[in-house]
Amino acid sequence: MLWTRRDYQMSYAISAAMAIALLGASLTSAADIKRTELYQRMKTALDAVPAIDTHDHLRPFGELPNKDETDAGLQMTLHSVFQGSYYPWINKLSPWPAGKGFDAWWKVAQHDFDNARATSFYRYLLPAFRDLYGVDFDTITPEQAKELNDRIAANYQDDRWLIDVITRRANIELMFIDPYWARLKFERAYQFSVPVLNVTLIIQGSHAERFDNVLDSPYVFAEREKLPVATLDDYLAVIDRIFQRAVEADTACLKSTLAYQRTLEFKNVPKERAAAAFGKKPDDVTREEQRDFEDFMHWRISELSAKYDLPFQIHTGQARIQGSNPMLLVDQIEANPKTKYILFHGGFPWVGETGVIAMRYKNVWIDSVWLPLLSYTMGKRAYQEWLEAVPSNRIMWGADTVQAEGIYAATEFTRQCLTEALAEKVDRGELLEEHALRIGRQVLRDNALELFPKLRRQLVAHRSG
Ligand SMILES: [Zn+2]
Repeated sequence: MLWTRRDYQMSYAISAAMAIALLGASLTSAADIKRTELYQRMKTALDAVPAIDTHDHLRPFGELPNKDETDAGLQMTLHSVFQGSYYPWINKLSPWPAGKGFDAWWKVAQHDFDNARATSFYRYLLPAFRDLYGVDFDTITPEQAKELNDRIAANYQDDRWLIDVITRRANIELMFIDPYWARLKFERAYQFSVPVLNVTLIIQGSHAERFDNVLDSPYVFAEREKLPVATLDDYLAVIDRIFQRAVEADTACLKSTLAYQRTLEFKNVPKERAAAAFGKKPDDVTREEQRDFEDFMHWRISELSAKYDLPFQIHTGQARIQGSNPMLLVDQIEANPKTKYILFHGGFPWVGETGVIAMRYKNVWIDSVWLPLLSYTMGKRAYQEWLEAVPSNRIMWGADTVQAEGIYAATEFTRQCLTEALAEKVDRGELLEEHALRIGRQVLRDNALELFPKLRRQLVAHRSG
C-alpha cells in the first residue's frame, strides 16, 4: 500500500495516542507491580503450588537451635528467630541476657534494627511476623513485641506449629535437608524430609583428625562397615560405600559448601600428589598438599555424582568471595558432562555468570536458593535475565533456614520475588500470563521433580503415609 501524507499524519496521531495510553498504563503499574490485579492473581495461583524446597537446615524438633535461657527457662524467643536468621550476618543483634525476661532484652535490642531496615536479610523476615502473627515489625510497639515473643515461645511447646507452618502456611510438600550436624546418619526426621549427602568434609578428609563429629567421619563409618582405610585407595572405596548407603537411604543429591573455606578452582591433580597428603595429620600437611588432596577428591566426587545419579549442589557466590565465582567451576563442568551440577544461590552476586554457564552447559542447573534473601532486587533481576537466557526447566529454589518462622519467611519472600519477576514480564508484554504461571510452577516444584525423579516415589509415600 502507498501511504499518503494524510495516512502518515493519522498513523502518527494513533501511535502518539497509543504511546500516551501505554505510558499511562505503565506509570500506574510499573511503580509497583505488586499493587496490580495481575500480580495478585498470579501470586494467588503460585501460592497454591505445593513447593519442593531443594535446600534447608531443619534439625529434628528436639534439636532446634538458638533457644534462649530466659526467666521462664530455655525457650524459643523473638531473639531466637533473628539469631537463627541471616540478619546477624550483617547487622548488630544484642544477645539475650541470660536468665532475664523479654523486657530486659528488648530495652537494648529495639534499636538494633535501624541500620538494616532496607536490607533483604531484615526484610525477608517481615512476612513471617505479618502473616503468622499479624504484626508489622517495622512499626512494632514494646507491647506488641512482648506479645509476639510470648506467642513464639508458646508455639514451640511441641512440633505441631513447626509442621503446620511448613506444610500448610508455607505450602512446602517436600524439603531437602542438608544435615551438616550429622552428615553420614542419613536420618529423615520429618515426613517431608528429603535426605542430602553433604560431601564437604569427605573432600577435606585427608586424616581422621579432621573430623570432630563422629556422625560426619568417613573413618568412623569405615569402622562400622569393617572396611580398611590405610591408603588413599581404601579411602576412595569407603567413599564409594558411603554413596551406596546414601542411595539406599533415598538421598536425592550431594551438597558442598567448600566455597566458605577455599577457592572453587579444582585442578585435576594426579593421584600420586593427592596420596602425598593422605594419612598426614592436619598439622603435618602443607597447604599445597591439602589443596591437591581436595582438588583430587572434588573430581572423584564429581564422577561418583554421575555414577550414582546424585546431582551435585555446589555453594557458589557469597562466601569466601576471593574464590567463589562460579566461573571457576567451568573447566570441571566441561570435563564431566555426565555430572549434573547445580549452582547454588545463583552465584550471587555473579548471577549473569551463572546464567551463561547454564546457557553453555546442559549439565548445569541454577538454584536460586537464598538469592532473594541476599538481595531481593538482584533476585528479581536474575529470574528475568535467566529466563531470557536459559530454558525454564533449569531453575529451582530453596528456603535455606532453620525454624518455622524463617522457613515461612524465606518461602513467602521467594514466592513474592518470583511472582514479581514474572508479572513484570507479563505486564511488559514479554510473556503470556498462562506461560508465566507455568514457569512459576516449574521453579517452585516441577523442575525439582524432573531433575530428581526419585522424589515422585516419596511424594506418593508421603501422601499415603
Ligand atoms: Zn544452606
